[in-house]
Amino acid sequence: MSQPLTVDCPTCGAPVEWNEKNAYRPFCSDRCKLIDLGAWAAEEHKIPVAPDAEDELFSGELEPRH
Ligand SMILES: [Zn+2]
Repeated sequence: MSQPLTVDCPTCGAPVEWNEKNAYRPFCSDRCKLIDLGAWAAEEHKIPVAPDAEDELFSGELEPRH
């Protein structure tokens, strides 16, 4: 007995059938997959990875406004 396994699309929340035919799983479509990848990349972009970038952020905050 095998029941069809469905998951929720991480992007839009639509039920997605998890099988080998669905190349975009766990997404419902290539569009949702691209949106999620884009969001992930944008989020990573916000995080300063290099110590230098962090220093810049701190010095920028300490700098006087005038
Ligand atoms: Zn979707």
